[in-house]
Amino acid sequence: MHDLNTFGFDVKAKYFQELKSMDDIHKLIENPEFKQTHHLILSGGSNILFSSDFFDGFVVYPNLKGIETLEETDDTVKIRCYCGEIWKDFVDYTVSKNLYGLENLADIPGKVGAAPVQNIGAYGDEVKDTVYQVHTIDLATGKTKVFNNKECRFSYRNSIFKELISQRTTHALYMIFAVDFVLKKHSELKLDYGNIRNYLISNNITNPTLQDVASTVKAIRAEKLPEVGVVGSVGSFFQNAIVSMDKYLEIKALYPNVPSYPVDGRDAARHIPTSVKIPTGWLIDRAGWKGYRENHVGVWDKQALVLVHYGDGKPQEIQDLMKKIQDSVKAKFGIEIKPEVNIV
Ligand SMILES: Cc1cc2nc3c(=O)[nH]c(=O)nc-3n(C[C@H](O)[C@H](O)[C@H](O)COP(=O)(O)OP(=O)(O)OC[C@H]3O[C@@H](n4cnc5c(N)ncnc54)[C@H](O)[C@@H]3O)c2cc1C
Repeated sequence: MHDLNTFGFDVKAKYFQELKSMDDIHKLIENPEFKQTHHLILSGGSNILFSSDFFDGFVVYPNLKGIETLEETDDTVKIRCYCGEIWKDFVDYTVSKNLYGLENLADIPGKVGAAPVQNIGAYGDEVKDTVYQVHTIDLATGKTKVFNNKECRFSYRNSIFKELISQRTTHALYMIFAVDFVLKKHSELKLDYGNIRNYLISNNITNPTLQDVASTVKAIRAEKLPEVGVVGSVGSFFQNAIVSMDKYLEIKALYPNVPSYPVDGRDAARHIPTSVKIPTGWLIDRAGWKGYRENHVGVWDKQALVLVHYGDGKPQEIQDLMKKIQDSVKAKFGIEIKPEVNIV
């Protein structure tokens, strides 16, 4: 699966099955090997770290294709997209149709079926704001189930699907085979996050179009993230840290320029937020890891949140580096940072 995980590790699986149709899915569910074996759903492999170079189980590779317009009103268009479509191509398609809602999520690697799993997000937007419903099939029973937006229990880089994968409390594992999105026909651009507005101004774009925003997001991403297929990574390896206000104030006393964003919840007595998000990339950078390299792996020199594989390495090397960074951030700031990537 070397080309099916963006870290580019040379991993093999005991069983591997591509699914191109609902028929393929039903056949798989009847397969005795599949029934008896631990399994993993693999889409674009851009958010997966294999824990060794052999996956002793069944890899299911959903690859159903298709995009359909379901409904159109004066203001919105409802579109169904099947799981095997490439996310960034789908975003380009919606932008080319002048539909608003996904432009800040341009160029995120991976496939459409995985987008709701971690509620992908970038530049102040999350996919939860456009997902209408998610079509799934329970790989244990073959029963289909539709989750509406509320039932998906979306939160920061999380959903019911990700929770069920990490808990594995039941045999049920929902495979997402299609996602319905509601997109807007009228302008509602979000320009206030990251460098979007500055980038537009520096390129003399005063009245940006939907296409301008998508192109800007792509240009900014290309400047700071490793190119998929050239340097192995999964983008942000760690989640941003959410800390209590007291912890934040403790850090701010030592580092007055610590970047921070308030998160939900307010301390009524003190008139301040109860918790604060601190970019984990900043913590890792301050702990001295940015640009660090050890044999085949390292920390990206343009964004410390990204761990990279330069080729010919083993998954264990990334895990060792992860552990060293976690220990070092804990020792310096007293904060436990958690991986965003799915380690399987
Ligand atoms: C350079 C780079 C930049 C990135 N930037 C961002 C970013 O800005 N924002 C962001 O949110 N993410 C980002 N990512 C992470 C990644 O692209 C997303 O999480 C993406 O949605 C993963 O899609 P995938 O198809 O590769 O999923 P995979 O990595 O194959 O799978 C991810 C998880 O979803 C499960 N899964 C996959 N498909 C299905 C399905 N059909 N049904 C049920 N479960 C499924 C898998 O079992 C696994 O647990 C980045 C990654 C890279 C390499």
